[in-house]
Amino acid sequence: MNMENYSIEERIALVREDIARAADGRDVTLVGVSKTKPAELVRRAVAAGLTVLGENYVQEFREKAEAGAYEGAEVHIIGHLQKNKVKYVVGKAALIQSVDSIALLAEIGKRAASLGIVQDVLAEVNIGGEDSKSGLDPAALPELLGAAGTVPGVRVRGLMAIPPAEGSAAYFPRLYHLFIDNKAKKYDNVSMDFLSMGMSEDYEAAICEGANMVRVGSLIFGPRRYL
Ligand SMILES: *Cc1c(COP(=O)(O)O)cnc(C)c1O
Repeated sequence: MNMENYSIEERIALVREDIARAADGRDVTLVGVSKTKPAELVRRAVAAGLTVLGENYVQEFREKAEAGAYEGAEVHIIGHLQKNKVKYVVGKAALIQSVDSIALLAEIGKRAASLGIVQDVLAEVNIGGEDSKSGLDPAALPELLGAAGTVPGVRVRGLMAIPPAEGSAAYFPRLYHLFIDNKAKKYDNVSMDFLSMGMSEDYEAAICEGANMVRVGSLIFGPRRYL
């Protein structure tokens, strides 16, 4: 869809309509990905009813939080997270979607325990086995989910993935199976509630294949220009 001539308010409404159509009565969470976009635009999106924002970069998240960009909404961290940045997001992000190692999970748990909270996270899976992407090898998932039981400060709420841009649809059923298979197993501190897959180019297809959380950036906020 060419959204250039629409306001951000109209874009959010149009994306929500598409989601509702694809979801066919199921609940699907829309995460509006606001990376590189200014606080002012984020505020406008929240005023238009966007309730969840996704951010990739911790420094940018901190600056926009400081500027009050997210008031009235929650934030999910969706970008690769370094252990030394964990302290800036635990307890501030409603969900950290990009947990890709047991070491990172443990670091998040440690910080959360020191704050006396439990941090919700998703395990990020590198479903296409791409070197350019972070995420766990699917084969390493059981080990991470098992480890969650030994980390009191975290709760793993599901899976996140960014399939290869070309032919992403072929990966959605695999992710859905991974989600369902692990949902059926009982791990401590794990409750498989969310399958986060689908972005601007493929969120409707992802929902049709079982996603209940989609991360839509450019279609809502416009194309990104990196400096
Ligand atoms: C940037 C980003 C998105 C949004 O991508 P669009 O194609 O702009 O919708 C979604 N998920 C992750 C992890 C991202 O980094």
